[in-house]
This record gives sequence, structure tokens and C-alpha cells, in this order.
Amino acid sequence: MGSRRPPPETIAAVATPAGRGGIGVVRISGADLSAIVESLLGAAPAARTATLATFRGAGGEPLDQGIALYFPAPASYTGENVLELHGHGGPAVLGLLLGRCLDLGARIAEPGEFTRRAFLNGKLDLAQAEAVADLIDAATATAARAAARSLTGAFSQEIHAAVDGLIELRGFTEAVLDFPEEDIEFMRTADAAGKLADLRERVAAIIARARQGSLLREGLDVVLIGQPNVGKSSLLNQLVGEDVAIVTPVPGTTRDAIRSRIEISGIPLHVIDTAGLRPTADAVEKIGIERTWASIARADLALIITDAREPRHAGDATIIGRLPEGLPRIVVRNKIDLLGIDARRPSDEDDAEVWLSAKTGAGLELLREAILSAAGARDAMEGVFLARERHLRALDSAAAHLAAADEQLAAPPPALELFAEELRAAQQALGTITGEFSADDLLGEIFTRFCIGK
Ligand code: GDP
Repeated sequence: MGSRRPPPETIAAVATPAGRGGIGVVRISGADLSAIVESLLGAAPAARTATLATFRGAGGEPLDQGIALYFPAPASYTGENVLELHGHGGPAVLGLLLGRCLDLGARIAEPGEFTRRAFLNGKLDLAQAEAVADLIDAATATAARAAARSLTGAFSQEIHAAVDGLIELRGFTEAVLDFPEEDIEFMRTADAAGKLADLRERVAAIIARARQGSLLREGLDVVLIGQPNVGKSSLLNQLVGEDVAIVTPVPGTTRDAIRSRIEISGIPLHVIDTAGLRPTADAVEKIGIERTWASIARADLALIITDAREPRHAGDATIIGRLPEGLPRIVVRNKIDLLGIDARRPSDEDDAEVWLSAKTGAGLELLREAILSAAGARDAMEGVFLARERHLRALDSAAAHLAAADEQLAAPPPALELFAEELRAAQQALGTITGEFSADDLLGEIFTRFCIGK
């Protein structure tokens, strides 16, 4: 990584969101900021010290007065010289400051370019850099906490520990390959099989936590099925009321009109309301309905809401019949208060069923548990990794190579060359997570999704 040199140009961007605010920050990073520092500030501020300064234009006129923070390389976010101008948070004044930096030789930073440079200069690994964006994008407090944990390196450390184990195992496998007369006995004494088993367990544990975390990131698509008046809205409101949650029937587009978002135990749930799936002649509505069916095909869970006093309604049958086979589903028997019976969740059935009252709230906790368990999120969400799809793929690939390595080792006689090759491939897969092995187009894909100024 150290051999890759970042481009030498000075980059600048407004790091705070567009609009007006108390403070706005212009961030500048580069190898040589002296022209900008001298022209804008007159004198260089002391390193890492908040310094009150007048930010000046080309003719020496004041553009703003604020705090200048100077971080000389390499102890800065990007690893280069970094200057932050904390001015007043207005679009015009920040535009003037940025324009001044551009006149003085900087260019506008690309999305994520500061963080990309931080990665290339070894300040962060790739998983941490992604966590920066995930923290900014986190939609729930739990997701934010998980992203912060990855940012501070918890996820990377687990990957490194697995890689270290792999390096050790590869080390003595290669030693054995160099001195073949000792091979099998040596592998036995060194307990290669035991070490490999430990590694596989370690990777499996990371996968489990990463899968949980990807739920926090992506959320769950839940299909809601039920006739009018069975209590769908009441139920959603109850679920929302139990959490610091957001209900946003996303307005505007036809496609989103029948989706809303709630949150259970920090997991975002995208609720697809099938009430909108009615026969229609309207062309636009038809497109919306087709899209809804497409999202149902990809859904994670179906909630079938019924009135406990009535058996399953015939109107639901068509929709239920079109649900993808194998889609987990929970049948909710609502309004038990009218029957005067207790909430329950019979656990011995294939199709989960929950008897509850959306009106009194009885049984709500059982439903939340059923939803979380159907989603595979039984355990507490604290301590999980906010993994991306990319990480899961890499972890799965590492696990597959370790399994293959196991087979090579168990073969009579053990195929040590192939064993070593599988270990190498597993290490390579894990290395893509932290960025030890990463193609430029992957970096491009990751960093261009960042916001400007980060
Ligand atoms: P939706 O059309 O499926 O969204 O149903 P609503 O949530 O609007 O509820 C329809 C009616 O049933 C309303 O009058 C609710 O107050 C009532 N309702 C919903 N859930 C319950 C319940 O658990 N018990 C009782 N007694 N009434 C309920």
C-alpha cells in the first residue's frame, strides 16, 4: 500500500451539508498548502491549534472570520497536509472561500476523495473507510453504533486475526513443502487440522455477526397482507410506537406509494402494503403494481393480518398464492380483546402464528420476537458488524476455500500443494475486505458513493 502514491494535487471541498447553518467547513488537503495558507490567512496557524483568523480574498478584503485548523502531514485525516476553515455556514460565503482555494491552485475534491487518500496513505483500511460512509448514512441508532464500531477497527481486527492464523498455517505448510521428507508427520505434530478447524470456526463466527449486521444496513422487506379493517394500520402504529421510529409513507412516486418504513430493535423494516394491489385499468398504477410484485418476489417476510374472529379471508388467497415459495410468513390473529383470550405464539407450527391485539398492545412483544426470529435476528444486535454485501461475499469465499483446504488435508494422502493453494485463496479473499488486495475499479465504486467533502 505504501508504494501507491496519491495524486499530488491539492483538493478542496465544502465538508458541511448544503444550506445554512451555524458553521460551515471548507476542507483542503494536499502536499503543499503554503500558497493557500499565506494568501487566505496571512500567516500559517500553529499546528493542530484552533486559531481565530480572518479569511481574505485576492485583494486582501475579508471574506469571513472564523477558525483555522492546520494539520501538518502525516498526522491528519488524509495523511497529507490538511487545512480546515471553519467559517459561517452560508452557501455564498462558503462558495467564496472554496472559490478562493480553487484560484490558488486547488481543485474540487471528488466524492470520497479525502477518505480515499486516507486509505491510500494507510490511515484507514478499506473496511474502516466504508464504515465512514455507513456511519454518515446510518438510518438507525443501532446501525450508527455498529458503523462506529467498524470505523474504530473492530471488524478489521477480527479479519486481521483470521488472516494472521492463515499466515501461520501457510508458513509451516510451505516449510513442509520445501522439505518433503518430513511432511505428513510434521503436519500432524503441528496440528494443522486443529488449527484449520479453529480458523474455520473463527470465520464462521465473523460471518454470523456480519450477516446480522447486514440486516441493520439493508433492512428487511416485509409484505403486509390483509383485508380492510383487520387492523393493519393499528398494528403498524403499535410497532412504531414501541420504538424511536420513523413512519414515512414515502410520498410522490407511484412505485413507493405503497411502501413505508418502520423499525424494530434497530432493524429497518420496509413494509410493502398489498392493499394497493387491486385490479386497475390505470396504466401508471399498473406499473406501480408490477413493481410491487417484483419487490414482493424479493421480500424477506410476509405478515398476513387477519381478524381473529374470522378465518382467513378469501380476498387474501390470491396474494398468498402468489407469494414466493419458501418466503417466511407470520399469520397475525388480531383483535383478541374482542374474543377475551390471551396473547400467544404457538411455537410448534411451521407457519408462525401470533395472537394479539393491536388495540390493547397485548402480544405485540410476541410479534416483534416472531419477526426478528423469522429474519434470523434472534440475538441482540449489539456487537454485530455493519457488513456490506461485498464483505459477505468475501467471507463466504474465504469459508469455501477453507472448507476445500480441509478436504485436501483429509485426502489420503494429503494434497499439501492444493491445501496451501486453498489457504492462499482464503487469505486473498479476506484481504479484499480490508483492502490489502483491491482493484482500482473496486475503490472507484466504493468511494464515488461517498458524499463530497468526506
Ligand atoms: P386496516 O384497515 O387494516 O388498516 O385497519 P385499522 O387499523 O384501520 O383498524 C380497523 C378498525 O379496527 C379500527 O376501528 C380499529 O380501531 C379497530 N381495531 C384494530 N385493531 C383492533 C384490535 O386489536 N381490537 C379491537 N377491538 N379493535 C381493533
